[in-house]
Amino acid sequence: MDIQKIRDDFPILSQKVYGKPIVYLDNGATTQKPKAVLDTLVRMYAEQNANIHRGVHFLSEQATEAYENARRTVRDFLNAELSQEIIFTSGATAAINLAAFSYGERYVGAGDEIIVSVMEHHSNIVPWQMMCERKGASLKVIPISDSGELLMEEYGKLFSPKTRLVAITHVSNTLGTVNPVKEIIRIAHEAGAHVLVDGAQSVQHIPVDVQDLACDFFAFSGHKLYGPTGIGVLYGRRELLDELPPWQGGGDMVDCVRFEQTTYNELPFKFEAGTANYIDAVGLESAIRYLLSAGMEEIGAYEAALTQYALEQLQQIDGIRIFGTAKHRTGTFSLLLDGIHPYDTGMILDKMGIAVRTGTHCTQPLMQRYGIEGTVRASFALYNTFEEADRLCEGLKKAQKLFKT
Ligand code: PMP
Repeated sequence: MDIQKIRDDFPILSQKVYGKPIVYLDNGATTQKPKAVLDTLVRMYAEQNANIHRGVHFLSEQATEAYENARRTVRDFLNAELSQEIIFTSGATAAINLAAFSYGERYVGAGDEIIVSVMEHHSNIVPWQMMCERKGASLKVIPISDSGELLMEEYGKLFSPKTRLVAITHVSNTLGTVNPVKEIIRIAHEAGAHVLVDGAQSVQHIPVDVQDLACDFFAFSGHKLYGPTGIGVLYGRRELLDELPPWQGGGDMVDCVRFEQTTYNELPFKFEAGTANYIDAVGLESAIRYLLSAGMEEIGAYEAALTQYALEQLQQIDGIRIFGTAKHRTGTFSLLLDGIHPYDTGMILDKMGIAVRTGTHCTQPLMQRYGIEGTVRASFALYNTFEEADRLCEGLKKAQKLFKT
């Protein structure tokens, strides 16, 4: 891959902060956008903006077509069978909340159980917890090893006749662990449970085929995939979605509204109440096209080499603790320097132009599992370089010098 060419596509990467070239390693939180995506957003507002689905006029028809094309692009990107299985949401969080609410209404009753893992993002814990509270159900938790891998034997033992669904992250946003989701889904299905995969940290790194995985739901956010904020996707198997009641009520999701009784629209519109974020959906499509033109396999190979290099360099630093050393991983590293608070490390790195995240990364139960209050997280993306991995290591060593550890 020609990394310089890729970097040139991302205008923000040529910025300097505190007079130094920016090293953006906060990609787990959000990614930067290529010019193609920025241009699409401007073009949509400048040339094709009109509310979708409800207009007979030219612009509305154009915007509707662009929005439905974006849905087809997402369908192909995930290799879903049908466009109706692609529901646009405001992000992964909204997608999981939708699934938890609608699934809970239809399938979950008192005494039932939902399985999650200890490494889940709060977005894949709290919506299930809220649903369990409403329904009188409970959560069971898959534990992990110290290296940050799911304990699959323990997972198998969590099932009971009351297990309804497993909600599992494809890739941990804190540890970088890539979970064996296909196996997790197979085991759940054998036990008669459904599975939601949180793909917020996977779709930008790993080719995803929802039919091959055989998952029931798959959620992701556009902004972590080089697309705009405010747009995300819930994939759901059609037979399942057909059975679920809507989450939110409003325009577009209805068929016939009467005060006596309202009937609902067909899929996917039943789950898309109100004016859809059609502009950002088309922006997301543009981001997907960008990724596909770079090549998911090429991206995977480059990121794997970069991850391996960064890990080796980080491991050479004395007094560093890296959380998450799974065999299958992405370029997300959570770390602590002995005796230095993660916020202090983050601040020193910032002054060197290096953007990392510090804190719990919305995974407080995982922090509890390791008995820590937070970490420094550096997360790499397709435009990061080996030199940037070196600069991260230099920054960490400088922090150690300044704090004399
Ligand atoms: N799941 C995971 C694994 C994530 O990393 C994130 C974002 N940090 C989310 C869910 C939620 O995504 P969003 O905030 O875009 O809705």
